[in-house]
Amino acid sequence: MLKSNIKHSNSEHIERVRWKKSGDKTGPVLVLFVGIHGNEPAGLKAIDRIADILNEKETEFGGTVYAITGNIRALELGVRFLDTDLNRLWEVFYTDKDFSLKKNGKQQPSEYGESLEIKRTVDQIIKKHIDQPGDLIFADLHTTSSQSCAFILLNDTLANRKLSRKFPVPHILGIEENIEGTLLSYINNLGYKAVGFEAGAHLDDVSVERSEAFLWLLFYNTGILEISDLKLRKVRKTLEAHPGVPDSYYQVKYHKLVDDPEKFEMISGFENFDVVKKDTPLAYEHGELIRAPISGRIFMPLYQNVGHDGFMIIREVSEFWLELSAILRKSPFHGLLKFLPGVKKINSRSYEVDLRIARFLVRDIFHLMGYRVTEKDENTLICYRR
Ligand SMILES: [Zn+2]
Repeated sequence: MLKSNIKHSNSEHIERVRWKKSGDKTGPVLVLFVGIHGNEPAGLKAIDRIADILNEKETEFGGTVYAITGNIRALELGVRFLDTDLNRLWEVFYTDKDFSLKKNGKQQPSEYGESLEIKRTVDQIIKKHIDQPGDLIFADLHTTSSQSCAFILLNDTLANRKLSRKFPVPHILGIEENIEGTLLSYINNLGYKAVGFEAGAHLDDVSVERSEAFLWLLFYNTGILEISDLKLRKVRKTLEAHPGVPDSYYQVKYHKLVDDPEKFEMISGFENFDVVKKDTPLAYEHGELIRAPISGRIFMPLYQNVGHDGFMIIREVSEFWLELSAILRKSPFHGLLKFLPGVKKINSRSYEVDLRIARFLVRDIFHLMGYRVTEKDENTLICYRR
């Protein structure tokens, strides 16, 4: 195979497709997103380092890789976003809202323009590879405002679980029920595998190292690239979670939403995945103390004054639940869901649940069966098969 040099721009000039590398046309196609948040440069640095290494020597590529840049304007300025969060607006693509509207020739907000361009790039990639036998796989690289070990976020489909399981980090299931409009959910709804990788704190050097390690392991796990045993051990070691944080699956049990991040202050010192007991003081909002409503592990505590997710509390999911759900999802049990009390079938993929009749177990049953459960109103749940 001829060596194909990766052309990538330097950091002064950021392009949407930062680089592309292809080898075996029948292999999988990997699409990597970096810098969806402009204050998270670690992913961008990692893909640039990888491009340099790949350019140095001839490598046999078992598929195709695209590295896509996220919020270009925000990256240039080093801010999370300019007008609105680029990772919270993807829900709009399911509505009739006209995204192409411009005011005075400028896209308003700026992130609408960014998302339209990213969507166009994704559409082009899908169109180009749709007839190829290999899998299309997407990964979105981020970092957190708090100190953290590396972890993976995924919508709970069996295909996503299979992909994420091979990484020695904690896995958080079903985040899309708590955070709406993410790029990952958008990709998942198109029917492709997608995982989010969170490398650690925004500006830590180790976040760049972990992002790079994640990518090498992703190349290896998908069969895109062979790597030596020595390198494999090294990247796994770089990714491994802190002692005391098992690399198992977790579910979000509580989500603290914040209307005004300027009026919210997390008590200092919490690291992602720290164990908290019920009633532990966690934050102040409008000067009032907020305590943990349940016990568990603190997740994504907000240590920046942008964003509306104050903190979450997560708990480990048992191996038994994971296995049972894998069996049930492949079974004809879906056909029986409509007979549950208070459950009404809307179409082949979704159900409406009347909570005045159904009560809480229904939420667990739908989760077990792989449905996304969201609240339509106080008394109604919408369950959508992922
Ligand atoms: Zn982010």
